[in-house]
Amino acid sequence: MLRVYPEDDGSASIILECNSSSLRYLLSIKKSTRTERQKVKEMIKKGEDPKCPRHVSQALVRADKNFMCQLCGISFGKF
Ligand SMILES: [Zn+2]
Repeated sequence: MLRVYPEDDGSASIILECNSSSLRYLLSIKKSTRTERQKVKEMIKKGEDPKCPRHVSQALVRADKNFMCQLCGISFGKF
């Protein structure tokens, strides 16, 4: 994986490079769903460190007022 580009609308793009052929892929990731944002909200409410609903055990990082996942570049709402 080369880079994650978070987009303004909450979605993200990921650039992947193949190890054997150095082909590059651009992967678009859809922004968070209402259900996913709800899950994150509940983790915060319980006083837990919020984790990415798409990556088990990947903790979300705070970027401005958003919580986002560094692996998929998706933000899960403002808290
Ligand atoms: Zn993630």
